[in-house]
Amino acid sequence: MTLRTLRTGLVASMIGIALQAQVPTESAVFIHAGALLDRPGQAPRGPSTIIVRGGRIEAVRDGHVAPTDGARLIDLKGQFVLPGLIDAHVHIFADDDKMRARLEALNRDVEDTLLIGVDNARRTVEAGFTTVRDLGSDVHSVTALRDGIAAGLIAGPTIVAAGSGISGTGGHADGANNLNRDIEEMRRAQATNTCNGADDCRRAVRRQISQGADVIKFTATGGVLSNIAGGLGQQLFDDEMKAIVDTAHLFGRRVAAHAHGKDGIAAALRAGVDSIEHATYTDAETNAAFKRSHAWLVPTMVAPHAALAQGRAGSRSQASLKKAEETVAVHNDNIAKAIEDGVRIAFGTDSGVSDHGKNAKEFALLVKAGMTPAAAIRAATVDAATLLDRASQIGSIEPGKQADLIAVATSPLDDVTVLERVRFVMRQGVVHVLDGARQAFPPR
Ligand SMILES: [Zn+2]
Repeated sequence: MTLRTLRTGLVASMIGIALQAQVPTESAVFIHAGALLDRPGQAPRGPSTIIVRGGRIEAVRDGHVAPTDGARLIDLKGQFVLPGLIDAHVHIFADDDKMRARLEALNRDVEDTLLIGVDNARRTVEAGFTTVRDLGSDVHSVTALRDGIAAGLIAGPTIVAAGSGISGTGGHADGANNLNRDIEEMRRAQATNTCNGADDCRRAVRRQISQGADVIKFTATGGVLSNIAGGLGQQLFDDEMKAIVDTAHLFGRRVAAHAHGKDGIAAALRAGVDSIEHATYTDAETNAAFKRSHAWLVPTMVAPHAALAQGRAGSRSQASLKKAEETVAVHNDNIAKAIEDGVRIAFGTDSGVSDHGKNAKEFALLVKAGMTPAAAIRAATVDAATLLDRASQIGSIEPGKQADLIAVATSPLDDVTVLERVRFVMRQGVVHVLDGARQAFPPR
């Protein structure tokens, strides 16, 4: 429900049932598209009209149909329209300015971080990403941001939230790694996401769910950015991973596993995860395991390059710099092989490592790794929607789905980098960007 429909409803109830019949149903918006990729993976249509009402797609018609009954017309006759993009891996509260983040690490309260997230959310939706999956943020902050956006209070994408990533003590998502004794003890006392042993890992999953997590993330292996020389290999035992996946699935939540090393990728796939994030050292054997288990691979191609640049600039730890060098050397080639082997790819960037609002830079790297532009766009729309278990709501422009759509100046099927410059963004019927310019939010 938007604020406007909420207000309309309140007014209607105040002035009584007699007048309620006279309150018009929300008027329609007619969008004239020059070309329309309504179902990525299929051929685009020519000139088309999309009719939007109440935040949803009401109809899609061939040609340019004149608006009726005072409906608003949005003229995108010179533009190429496609579904709103989906990024299956972001960290919405992570500060783009890594040096500043490091310097201020001891001075920031959760409220400071929350406001950084509000700005990142606005940048993300204005870049054409109308849905993101946040795979690692304070669970209270990310659910508050998610719900504020859903209520129409602030501009941002639909957020599918994991809360804090689950990790063994000393593992990649242990927020107390290598801190001084006082801060370590404080962090340990507050942490809800570290677990040791299968039962404890069930507890950690239930704890994230109890605080509102939509999806569960765990770290199967070491990671580039944790300040620990723990390598990139497996960091949870098979029974711990199995306990995490089974508990999440019991609650109807999908599971994403962060995994670089081959041993951790294989173990997470055996445990039954729904997606593997990064998959740096995947090979023919694990690619075959991906296909057997129907898990998705979320490559996050932009992340290793961003981490390496930050490490060289001195805004990451020495432990991180070494791991960034290792991953950049192999990631592209291994993902290219996975694409060639037919592993299912869903689009995700790890934005927060790279800059928020520049998520679309991932497209060029996916194409460089062997995907066609059409396949890369499909990965960021219908396929990511399927991974997020939201395919009935988002990912294509079809009657009944959310009115999440974007437009670019030329066909992204010819040059995918045009998606780095979106000209129009509508999320759930609300226009965020028109002719490349930010629109008032909430709309007047
Ligand atoms: Zn991440």
